[in-house]
Amino acid sequence: MVIRELIIIGAGPAGMTAALYAERAGLDVLIIEKLYEGGKLINISSIENYPGFENINGVDLALNFKKNIKNVPIVYEEVLSLEKAEDIFIIQTNENVYYAKFVIVASGSSERPLKLSEAERYLNKGLSYCAVCDGSLYKGKVGAVMGGSASAIKETLYLSKILKRVYLIHRREEFRVNNIELKKVIEKENVTILKPYDVIKLLGHDKLESIIIKSNKEEKELEINCLFAYLGNDANSSFLPNEIKQGYVKVDKNNETIIKNLFVIGDLVEKEHRQISIAIGEASLAVLTIVNR
Ligand SMILES: Cc1cc2nc3c(=O)[nH]c(=O)nc-3n(C[C@H](O)[C@H](O)[C@H](O)COP(=O)(O)OP(=O)(O)OC[C@H]3O[C@@H](n4cnc5c(N)ncnc54)[C@H](O)[C@@H]3O)c2cc1C
Repeated sequence: MVIRELIIIGAGPAGMTAALYAERAGLDVLIIEKLYEGGKLINISSIENYPGFENINGVDLALNFKKNIKNVPIVYEEVLSLEKAEDIFIIQTNENVYYAKFVIVASGSSERPLKLSEAERYLNKGLSYCAVCDGSLYKGKVGAVMGGSASAIKETLYLSKILKRVYLIHRREEFRVNNIELKKVIEKENVTILKPYDVIKLLGHDKLESIIIKSNKEEKELEINCLFAYLGNDANSSFLPNEIKQGYVKVDKNNETIIKNLFVIGDLVEKEHRQISIAIGEASLAVLTIVNR
């Protein structure tokens, strides 16, 4: 049985930063990632608030993070459970069992799916959760973005450069953010903001052709070719020990959970703001805490 000093779950910006610090500190470290390096970065069209870069797209930033950890071993498996027995953590993936003295969980969160019965039917046939991945499929066409978060606004701006017209549909009167990108969206001639409206039905034969939107005054049909839904995120915490597996995780000032030697960093932490710069700060703090033990 091989017992690693540190296992990191998730290779988004938080997990990769933790790996960078761990490797430089000489820890015997392994990353377990269920998909690919980069996490949510892969879905971000442009990042303007990451220090050191005026503007960088998410894929390029992910590749830069990856270059920094080229010597850290990584396995592409999904973690299914994490338990502590005496002083050792036992991590069960879909393929193997791993053991570690310390664990850093950086599994982030997942996009909340659109809760309409017909949503699955139109997935990848007009309905998408990632403008960067699918926006170019609808070049020159008409689309809509659903949501009022910073992500929804940022991706509306991105789509406005590809699509002929973009409707930004938000179910509240006010947006949750008031940033530079919102001002840019308001100024865009080919963006129409519809609020407070909710999307209540998707329509179309083989693919999405229109949606029904509803306010407290009216219902109307919008002809569109694509709908990008940004409806918030749910914590990827289902594999955690019972004491901490409910939603986002509470941590102390060093990002340690109530379970000794188990740290949670990045978007999975219970907090007000979720940003790359916050995630990477938590990552370095957690590893430096481990190194000092
Ligand atoms: C559209 C959009 C735009 C954004 N724009 C910005 C921006 O401009 N600036 C900014 O600072 N932030 C931005 N953010 C937020 C930023 O992306 C996150 O704060 C950041 O990615 C959090 O990093 P993380 O490593 O904690 O989580 P994530 O990036 O979510 O990475 C988590 C990783 O864990 C893996 N994982 C999950 N479950 C398991 C499991 N069971 N087993 C193994 N691996 C698992 C996932 O596959 C993923 O790779 C944006 C987010 C979105 C969605």
